[in-house]
Amino acid sequence: MMMTAQQYEESLRKLDLVVYMFGRRVENPVDDPILRPSMNAVAKTYEMAHQSEHENIMTATSHLNGEKINRFTHIHQSTTDLVNKTKMGRLLGGHTGCCFQRCVGMDALNALSIVTYDIDKKYDTRYNERFLKYLAHVQEKDLTCDGAMTDPKGDRSLPPHKQPDPDMFLRVVAEKDDGIVVRGAKAHQTGAVNSHEIIVMPTIAMREEDKDYAVSFALPSDAPGIAYIMGRQSCDTRKTETNPLDTGNPVFGGHEALVVFDDVFVPWERVFLYKEHEFAGPLVERFASYHRQSYACKSGVGDVLIGASQTIAEYNGVQNASHIKDKLIEMTHLNETLFCGSLACAAEGREEASGTYCVNTLLANVSKQNVTRFPYEIARLAQDIAGGLMVTLPSAEDFKSPEVGKWLEKYYQGNKDVSTENRFRILRLIENLTLGTAAVGYLTESMHGAGSPQAQRIMISRQSNTPEKQKLAKKLCGIDEK
Ligand code: SF4
Ligand code: FE
Repeated sequence: MMMTAQQYEESLRKLDLVVYMFGRRVENPVDDPILRPSMNAVAKTYEMAHQSEHENIMTATSHLNGEKINRFTHIHQSTTDLVNKTKMGRLLGGHTGCCFQRCVGMDALNALSIVTYDIDKKYDTRYNERFLKYLAHVQEKDLTCDGAMTDPKGDRSLPPHKQPDPDMFLRVVAEKDDGIVVRGAKAHQTGAVNSHEIIVMPTIAMREEDKDYAVSFALPSDAPGIAYIMGRQSCDTRKTETNPLDTGNPVFGGHEALVVFDDVFVPWERVFLYKEHEFAGPLVERFASYHRQSYACKSGVGDVLIGASQTIAEYNGVQNASHIKDKLIEMTHLNETLFCGSLACAAEGREEASGTYCVNTLLANVSKQNVTRFPYEIARLAQDIAGGLMVTLPSAEDFKSPEVGKWLEKYYQGNKDVSTENRFRILRLIENLTLGTAAVGYLTESMHGAGSPQAQRIMISRQSNTPEKQKLAKKLCGIDEK
């Protein structure tokens, strides 16, 4: 059954999450003013799945039972599915203007659908069967899963088993008849407190000595021993002010947490990788490729920023200046290039042994590499067009002040046909996207999410197949080296 946005919100209220922020336990994350916008963004993934005009993109047909499901719980069955996933990311990025968080779980499910199958083939284990049972539960309940990969990593020069503190990578600390006990943490977890489930995967390829760290499993997000410590974001406390206008995007946002696993029990039926260390690398690689494709979300956020830039140009009365038009063309060129990369790795995807379709790894990495750069340039151009007022604008309360409000109305008027309030709103939105809470998602997350730039460059070098290119060159100019 596909949940509505309302049902999703109610389902989160039933969770007993241990959330900390500003040194205090947050008893009710759903209604917390700082966290609520991130819940609203995930709720949009439920709401839009019920809109007939978005049905093709937002829903899919379960390969398990033929039922209509939310695409975020789907295992891709074709390149059309992968292309629709890219389009879904752009669509939602445009409707929220932030990170809507639910892709990490979708990407974890798809990566596990491939790797559990491959482990079984080698070791005659039963991981895939377990996984499919778990998937059926996720699809039936239309759950949001958090995909948790990034370990704190301690001293980056040392492998997991050589770390002075052995908990720097999440690991198995005990094995019992009915399951395992795990300890460690996952950092930068997008959407963690808006998820019903958390799917843990290793963060790097591993060797025999690190086998206690080669573990993947899923748990309900409120399982005993899991705690969430919320990250701060630039301008976050503006959301607690009485006047929401200074936030720029009062309804939506994304949020990250450090998730601590303090000796947490995992029953065997939820363990999907256990000490088969040579499959840690393939799992990381699959998840990373899928998630690098998912960054089509940023072209949706880019749509918002381009729209905001055109709007402020009109409000300022400069929309006909040729350099402004050219800057907007440049922003569009960069933004559509991001979309092209995500579409290309989807269209060039192929079927794995499990039947799941995976994206083209080289193109997914090239695409994400562009994402580490282009949003910064798009943001720079947006700030250029917006003008300095974006960062010197007094608060929304000053505009209402009986003493000085009239001066702000008078001196911050642009195009006479536009209200000063609308000019204020669009400037605050650009501020939000390029400097405020949403810049976390649009800029720094673009840089480091789904792996930092260097991680993509390593994959690009591995996949580039340069010898084939040398052959082409040598053939054309008549070099014959036997
Ligand atoms: Fe999804 Fe984009 Fe957020 Fe990653 S950054 S979870 S791809 S919306
Ligand atoms: Fe991300």
